[in-house]
Amino acid sequence: MKLVVASRNAKKSIELEKLLSPLGVHVESVTSYPDAPDVEETGTTFAENAALKATEVAQFLDMWVIADDSGLEVDHLDGTPGVYSARYAGENASDPENNAKLLRELEGVPAERRGAQFVCHLAVSDPNGQVRLTADGKCRGKILTSEEGNGGFGYDPLFLLPEYHQTFGQLSPVVKSVLSHRARAMARLLLQFPTLQRTWLEDSA
Ligand code: IMP
Repeated sequence: MKLVVASRNAKKSIELEKLLSPLGVHVESVTSYPDAPDVEETGTTFAENAALKATEVAQFLDMWVIADDSGLEVDHLDGTPGVYSARYAGENASDPENNAKLLRELEGVPAERRGAQFVCHLAVSDPNGQVRLTADGKCRGKILTSEEGNGGFGYDPLFLLPEYHQTFGQLSPVVKSVLSHRARAMARLLLQFPTLQRTWLEDSA
């Protein structure tokens, strides 16, 4: 069976594809389908946006699709940027622009009040646009006062894992693939996968 990953964020897509590889399903990126829609994230929650992305792309391609909606919730900022993480500093903002805005918003906030969490919601849609599986995951950390490391993407260089004394920008991708919000959501999703595999076998019989 083939599962299309509905993300045009290359680095996020690679993380998802690596996390899915133990499944033994053929994983493909939506970038292989240039006509597939770039779904507008009109939802107000991660769950809504993940479902929107998965179902719209699945119906367009007539294929099984997985989508991830994720972001950063900062305690001191009442959970923002949240679903607006990718466009925090404006529509089409770059990662450095978003990171710079976050640092400005947290200027003068002491270390003990810089708690934050990454959140990830996953949705798997069947070719008819029905969401068949969902899962979520969180990862807690702290926002530093300057970037450390250049691995990962997005807010990774600002996100410190206190137990490791390093950011996701410094830790190896292997460590991120175990600890991250995305890894935790995927672990929960994988537990439900046998249900889908039965459906796939029935469909192909
Ligand atoms: P989405 O593509 O709408 O789900 O936006 C996700 C945004 O949240 C990204 O552009 C990043 O700004 C942020 N984000 C989500 N996951 C991560 C991560 O693993 N590391 C760093 N930033 C992330």
